[in-house]
Parts: sequence; C-alpha cells; structure tokens
Amino acid sequence: MILIVGGGPAGSLSAIALKNYDVTVVEEHSSAGFPVQCAGLISERCYRELKKFSDCKVNDIRGAVFFSPNNSVELEGKVGAVVVERKLLDRDLLAKASEYANVMIKTKFLGVEKGKAVLRSMGKKIELDYDYIIGADGVYSTVSNVFNFKKPEVYSALQITCRFECISDDLVEIYFGFSDYFCYAIPFDEFAKIGVISSQNPMPVMRRLLRWLGKRVKGSVLELNAGAIPIGLVDFVKDRVMLIGDSAGMVKPYTGGGLYYILKAVEKLKHFPNLKKVQKEYVKDLRIEYKVGTKIAKLYRTLEPEDYDYLIGVAREHGDLARELDMDRPSTLLKLIPLILKIVKRRKILMKLSSLL
Ligand SMILES: Cc1cc2nc3c(=O)[nH]c(=O)nc-3n(C[C@H](O)[C@H](O)[C@H](O)COP(=O)(O)OP(=O)(O)OC[C@H]3O[C@@H](n4cnc5c(N)ncnc54)[C@H](O)[C@@H]3O)c2cc1C
Repeated sequence: MILIVGGGPAGSLSAIALKNYDVTVVEEHSSAGFPVQCAGLISERCYRELKKFSDCKVNDIRGAVFFSPNNSVELEGKVGAVVVERKLLDRDLLAKASEYANVMIKTKFLGVEKGKAVLRSMGKKIELDYDYIIGADGVYSTVSNVFNFKKPEVYSALQITCRFECISDDLVEIYFGFSDYFCYAIPFDEFAKIGVISSQNPMPVMRRLLRWLGKRVKGSVLELNAGAIPIGLVDFVKDRVMLIGDSAGMVKPYTGGGLYYILKAVEKLKHFPNLKKVQKEYVKDLRIEYKVGTKIAKLYRTLEPEDYDYLIGVAREHGDLARELDMDRPSTLLKLIPLILKIVKRRKILMKLSSLL
C-alpha cells in the first residue's frame, strides 16, 4: 500500500497518477484547500492540465504591471496566465483522487513505529502497514521530519483579500523594492489578493505596501492568510519514502509558485516504484530552471529600490523583449542576458545582473 500524507494538490495529483496502485491518502483537515495559502496565479499551460479535474478559473491574465517605488511598466510574456480559485481546485482534486484511492480526512500522520505508520484519525490512534510513503504534507512536513530529509529555506508570506482598484482585471501587479523578494496584487473577481513575500517579518512590509497603494485599497480586509514559501529543491527520495510539493521545495524560487512544479513531479511518477528514477527525471527536466530561478531570487536580495526604478525605466524602452519570456521557464531569460547587459548602463546594476551568467 502507498500511503500519501496530505490531501493538497501534490497529494491528490499523486493519488490520481498512481491510480493503478493500492493508495491511501490521509488529510489532517476536514476538507482540502483550507486555509487557502495561495494567490492562484498559474500559467495557461498549467491550467490546461488542472482543468481536466477542476473548472476553477476566475480570471484570464494577459500580462503584468511591474512597479518600483517610483516607476512602472506593463509587460506581456510569451504565455498567458490564469487566476484560479484554490479552494475549489483543492476540493475537486481530492474528490477526483477519492475515485481511485482510499481518502481519510481528519486523519493526521504522526510518525512511524515498528515499521507501521501511526495516524490519529477522528481522535483515535491507529497503525497502518505501508510499502511506500509519499510526503505531500506541505512546507512543514512531518514526513520530512520523521525521515530526516533536508529542509528547504523558508520565506514568509502574508496575503490579504480586499476590494482593490485594479488597473485592469486581466493584469497582475508586481511590486519590487518593498521587500527582499516581491509583493503582488492579483485580481480576483471584484476583489484582489494582495500579498508580500519576504525572508523577514512580512507584516511591516505589508503595512508599507498598503500605505503606498493608498486609496486604491478599498474597505476592510476580508481575509488574511499567513503562509510560507519553500525556496530550493531538496534531495526528495530516501529508500521507500518520497517527498512531493512544498515539502520537497518544488516551488519556482523566483515567484513562489508551486503548482507547475507539482505537475512536473507528478508527471515523473510514471516511473513509480523506481523513486530514484522519479527524482532523476525531475531534476533533469528542471535543473536549469532551478539554477536560474535561484539566482533571480538572490538578485531580489541585492537590488535596491532605486535599482528597480532604473531597471523598470529600461524595461519601458525595451518592453518587447518580455515576449521572449516564459513564466514557468526562467531559462528563457538566458538568451536575453547579453542584450540586457548591453542595454543596462549603470555599472553597479550590471555587476549584480552579471551574476545570472
Ligand atoms: C501566500 C502564498 C501565495 C501563493 N501563490 C501561489 C500562486 O499564485 N501560484 C502557485 O502556483 N503557487 C502559489 N503558492 C504556492 C502553493 O500554494 C503551494 O506550492 C502548494 O499549495 C503546495 O501544495 P502541496 O500539496 O505541496 O502542499 P499544501 O497545499 O500545503 O498541502 C499539504 C496538505 O497536507 C496536509 N497535512 C499537513 N501535515 C499533515 C499530516 N501530518 N497528516 C495529514 N495531513 C497533513 C495539510 O492539511 C494540507 O492539506 C503560494 C503560496 C503562498 C504561501
């Protein structure tokens, strides 16, 4: 029996991919998708895959407006994007998984004793025989702790939902120069999800951002979520145990988006039960993307607000270059680097950008 710990997207999609096996999914909450810790922004390509299981689209997104404290530019990339309703997506995925697997809600994985998985289900302690464990239990994974996996670095995220005067409901807004990562506003029906991501306490950043956004933020905060974003892939296979999703750091290091990388990992489950091969194929597919993505995340830490003001000014003059960029594949930036290095005139910024090479 394969025990999947966690009924979020990584757990449910794994259960669907392993439908020809005897699978049990345990989810500690009474439903999936709660609390929602996601802005729901994914590429069209990612949505096409997820749409097979859930019609969870809220908005189509054609581009982004990038802001620095004193500048802005609207850009459109190579692929479109979609905002999805994560609560609905997670619920539909778990429902689909339950067609193939035994799903136990309100059941928490506690650890392993004498070769059996120990669970607490509806208040009762139970033991379960298993052949494999898949830890899809999120950023603070118990499976990772129990089996002594390495942990990814963790950034903090804070997200509010409120009424917001969006520039357009098909444009996301990305704010640079407020934290050592970035902040965002994602249109969501007549609301927006406004979020900050930082390696430090995100609360002061959120206050600063909201002050800067001023009257565009309307009314009160309707929902507030604190979350965490794992940055950096870890070695995710040990013997008969595998991590997938946030537990393994399967997140784009430069955006914090996890759904695309989960789909990529689930695709590799076709090699199950050869877990080493699953890992090898995943790494082969995404090695360059992690490498470039991690460098971009490092760059966020070194650029100052005035550097962003300058770079966004440069992007205003050369916005067409963005058409070459794929939001899921940061390696698409590489072929633009020589050109960018020619366009950027400030030596200090050039030195920082050249770290991408
Ligand atoms: C603020 C924020 C915004 C984000 N925005 C985006 C975005 O716009 N686009 C995008 O692609 N990604 C986004 N992400 C990332 C994305 O939400 C995650 O990558 C994704 O949810 C990871 O899925 P998962 O299944 O690995 O983990 P989770 O979604 O965390 O699911 C883990 C599940 O395991 C369960 N669980 C945990 N421990 C146990 C246990 N011991 N026993 C049983 N069950 C357990 C939990 O209850 C949960 O249901 C965002 C993240 C944050 C924090």
